[in-house]
Amino acid sequence: MSDKNIQMVDLQRQYQCLKKEIDAAMQSVVESGAYINGPHVREFANQLGDYLNVPHVIPCANGTDALQIALMALDLKPGDEVIVPAFTYAAAAEAVALLGLIPVPVDVAPRTFNMDATKIEKAISRQTKAIIAVHLFGQACDMESIQVIAKKYKLFLIEDNAQSIGAEFIFKDGSCKKAGTIGDIGTTSFFPTKPLACFGDGGALMTANPDLALRCRTIASHGQEQKYHHKIIGCNSRLDTIQAAVLGVKLRYMDAFAASRAEKAKLYDAHFGFVSNMAIPLKSEFSTHVYHQYTLLIQNGKRDALQAWLKEKGVPSIVYYPVPLHQQEAFKWCIRLSVELTEAEKLCKSVLSLPMHSELTEDEQLYIIETVKSGMTAIR
Ligand SMILES: *Cc1c(COP(=O)(O)O)cnc(C)c1O
Repeated sequence: MSDKNIQMVDLQRQYQCLKKEIDAAMQSVVESGAYINGPHVREFANQLGDYLNVPHVIPCANGTDALQIALMALDLKPGDEVIVPAFTYAAAAEAVALLGLIPVPVDVAPRTFNMDATKIEKAISRQTKAIIAVHLFGQACDMESIQVIAKKYKLFLIEDNAQSIGAEFIFKDGSCKKAGTIGDIGTTSFFPTKPLACFGDGGALMTANPDLALRCRTIASHGQEQKYHHKIIGCNSRLDTIQAAVLGVKLRYMDAFAASRAEKAKLYDAHFGFVSNMAIPLKSEFSTHVYHQYTLLIQNGKRDALQAWLKEKGVPSIVYYPVPLHQQEAFKWCIRLSVELTEAEKLCKSVLSLPMHSELTEDEQLYIIETVKSGMTAIR
């Protein structure tokens, strides 16, 4: 056991770095009394819109609500199909299923963990109406290819960007767009461990389409365009003013934190790149990487043994994700299985995410590296 206190994400240390600014921002909300939809909410939405270069940002209560609101805005009919990746967090499929729509999982590319664009077309049917591209672990999906497919089959394209906010998609012509601003609607989460995070729940939608923006805003506010005049059936999904104030501060540091994580990923890569039975995460050529997670593939079938070894030595690690979507009990009955999902199945047995955050010290990281390497030798 080590005397270190290594965390997957160290929220306290990050707070200590920004304490003065965050405390002042929160205090100003407490004193203003404007706890719901106060000025900080609009201010933060504008700042995020400027940062992402997208005209409309609609704050909401969390990232799962954002997905649900996005799907509601598209006015789909029960039985319509929505394509989702087989290897991801369940929120996207959950929002799809809750609205009576049918999630259709597609396999992922094993080294980038993102939806394999070459496998989407085979999963499309006459009922398919939308694709949810999830930008997993810190880098964008192959949006250029996915966009071509969406246009060809006239599908809506939603981007779940809870994990990769700040990442930049690079088109073949060299032009760039921030992940989450390429499809019809982008969604994100400000859950405390995400790349842009508050001190509780929060989320947002982003779009360049003014009609969709109005629909999302209306849905998030009980379907009201005007107070007490309910135009459509919506929900109650708001970002708290106090969380918006925290986010306003954190947004200014988001790129610096991502750059720091990228440095740490580089050090992991340098040490793990030549360890046998292990693959380091692959960076796509078409996206920058904000390293929300640093995820290894343990290819000798000993992932769980390695995780137990790390735990014993005080190194936390997490399996994101242990079960592919099509094997989750909740979704077995409602998804439509159309294509092989073997890569997703294999990943669930071999992925292991290591501590990754901007406050990780070099000392801690070298200890993690040493412990992983000695574990790979010991449990061969
Ligand atoms: C965290 C997350 C969500 C859900 O966000 P909440 O704010 O927890 O509702 C959705 N999709 C992905 C990919 C996530 O990582």
